[in-house]
Amino acid sequence: MSHFYETLKQLREIPVLHTMASECLIPGNGGNGSSSGERTIGLNVDALDFSVALDLLGTLESWQGLVIDEQELPSKSGRKGSADYRVKAVCEFLQVHYEWLMKHESATDFIREVGEIHWRGLQATNQIPVKNTRVDCPSDMDDGTLCGGRIILKSTDTNEQITCRQCSRVWTTEWLIKVAATSSKTHMWVDIEVLVQHFHLTTSEVKKIARKHLVTTQGRKPELYSFKHFNDAMEKINDRILHLTKSKLG
Ligand SMILES: [Zn+2]
Repeated sequence: MSHFYETLKQLREIPVLHTMASECLIPGNGGNGSSSGERTIGLNVDALDFSVALDLLGTLESWQGLVIDEQELPSKSGRKGSADYRVKAVCEFLQVHYEWLMKHESATDFIREVGEIHWRGLQATNQIPVKNTRVDCPSDMDDGTLCGGRIILKSTDTNEQITCRQCSRVWTTEWLIKVAATSSKTHMWVDIEVLVQHFHLTTSEVKKIARKHLVTTQGRKPELYSFKHFNDAMEKINDRILHLTKSKLG
């Protein structure tokens, strides 16, 4: 039943990531020479977003609101205090009402949204493993297709600049991961260790899931997996476990 507790674990970690993010606001070398120059501010934009916490609080506090409304609890008076305090408070509240939320008809959304916040927290604090990760270059070409050149990521330094050999565009690791993780048109390829760490699975569990859900792979030794396909498979599995848990509990 380990997946059932994954979201609970994430709720415990979010306040820690939030505090860490404010320490990750180290200015990089502004103007990274990318051909279209999206990132020229020279600081860790993810860390900034995450430490300011507006989205994060909006999302989590709306789940808190749902619990309060539907359970007819006395409403929390106002949303006061520092961002740090509020993040901690709302995460604690959601942990207390965790089982109730997991049985709610919107539980799938709850799991997804907490998972996304947690993932952004990992990004903001530079904790996404990038070793043995390869990305299909997501540069838009003039004819509307994507470049697709293979870019190999080697370092965990998210400010590291990498040039695509095919289109000569310069990316930072951070920006490349961000685009690849959110775009439906391009893939990020990772080795098994990355999946083991990120999803807290064993090697044989990863292999079994990849086989069963026909996760696209590439190359051999090491074989690389499509991060997006694997993530989709995990979402399906979590949905099913949730469904089973619900019918067992209630
Ligand atoms: Zn390219």
